[in-house]
Amino acid sequence: MNFEFTDKSKALQVKLKDFMDRHLFPLEKEYGEFVHDNPWVHFPALEQLKSLAKAEGLWNLFLPNSYGDLSPGLTNLEYAPLAELMGRLLWSSEVFNCSAPDTGNMEVLAKYGSSEQKSKWLNPLMNGEIRSAFLMTEPDVASSDATNIQTSIRLEDNEYVINGHKWWSSGAMNPATKVYILMGKTNPDAQRHIQQSMIIIPADAEGVEVIRPLRVFGSLDSPEGHAEIKLTNVRVPKSNLIQGEGDGFAIAQGRLGPGRIHHCMRLIGAAQRALYLMSARVKEREAFGRQLASFSSIRQDVATAHCNIHQARLLTLAAADKIDRYGIKEAKELVSMIKIVVPKMACDVIDKAIQAHGGMGVCQDTPLAGFWLYARSIRIADGPDEVHMYQLGKNIIKFS
Ligand SMILES: Cc1cc2nc3c(=O)[nH]c(=O)nc-3n(C[C@H](O)[C@H](O)[C@H](O)COP(=O)(O)OP(=O)(O)OC[C@H]3O[C@@H](n4cnc5c(N)ncnc54)[C@H](O)[C@@H]3O)c2cc1C
Repeated sequence: MNFEFTDKSKALQVKLKDFMDRHLFPLEKEYGEFVHDNPWVHFPALEQLKSLAKAEGLWNLFLPNSYGDLSPGLTNLEYAPLAELMGRLLWSSEVFNCSAPDTGNMEVLAKYGSSEQKSKWLNPLMNGEIRSAFLMTEPDVASSDATNIQTSIRLEDNEYVINGHKWWSSGAMNPATKVYILMGKTNPDAQRHIQQSMIIIPADAEGVEVIRPLRVFGSLDSPEGHAEIKLTNVRVPKSNLIQGEGDGFAIAQGRLGPGRIHHCMRLIGAAQRALYLMSARVKEREAFGRQLASFSSIRQDVATAHCNIHQARLLTLAAADKIDRYGIKEAKELVSMIKIVVPKMACDVIDKAIQAHGGMGVCQDTPLAGFWLYARSIRIADGPDEVHMYQLGKNIIKFS
């Protein structure tokens, strides 16, 4: 493995860092206050920032080069350090059209969508004109086991009719979200892993009812939000099915590999920034007649955090490299490993940084509280830690 980044990736890292320093970090406080005070309203400067990023070629960088003309041409390994840079500011990936869940949804449409689905939904998503949500999880069943999903997708008179109850649909509260990709069952009697399919549902389809936003530890996570949604006799054309009936599980596997690299690298960026903030803070505060930085416990926390961030980064780069060279299937074990290791590492590092800031660490004056919410939620979103450990442990025992 050679983790020396290519010249192309290095040049983009410099450009992205410069863009964030000039245009985004100066707005960090204003953005936080605005979205808190104006739920479900976009930050006024967002569209202008997106246009600027697009004009500078900092756009859709996430889509790997295996997508040919649709991709700006980076490998997962080349993109990984860019995701890390974006992770230092939670809302920045949207400015570059690189934010979840749109990235995963765009990959699904780019890889499995028909030409009609691509022109209607992928193109506006790639242009940043609309946003999307992914509807899998359901309140009535343990959704960490996706075979439990109950929502029905039934063929009737050349249309699919959808009935179900979803929640934790990230992005669905966003006024810019115009389309959902939903996972449901087309054939509940088939073999377990081919009962499910994915289908496209316009957000304004008749029978779609957004019941309420769910709060994450009290935060609305505006403007994206996480919605509870009921679907009652929602009818869509047959051509809205993605690929074929029974392909839902296979598509989900393809969707989650690179997305997990993105989440992990963003978390590494958040943890790295938390460590910088902690290091700066302990130099400027004194307690009991000494600089906080001189206490041994603080130095141990800083040193341990530095080692853990670096280990997690190397593991994630190894996963990105393996996907690039051998495909998602071969990289499955490494992808499980980063999903287990990185969010937990980020939670620990951010927690130490919060502690070192005292009261300031839990309020809106630093990004630390937002970082912690993100890292803690990812230990559940995209599959809880235990599910990845259960699968990884099973495979290690089997092949040992
Ligand atoms: C912030 C956030 C954003 C999300 N965004 C989306 C989204 O956009 N779209 C979407 O569809 N879903 C989304 N989710 C939902 C998420 O994917 C599910 O919450 C997750 O898959 C777990 O499903 P569940 O909540 O039904 O928990 P359950 O399946 O009920 O599991 C509960 C707990 O049981 C334990 N458990 C489960 N399996 C095992 C096992 N094999 N071994 C040991 N213990 C186990 C774990 O501790 C687990 O946390 C999001 C969740 C959060 C918190």
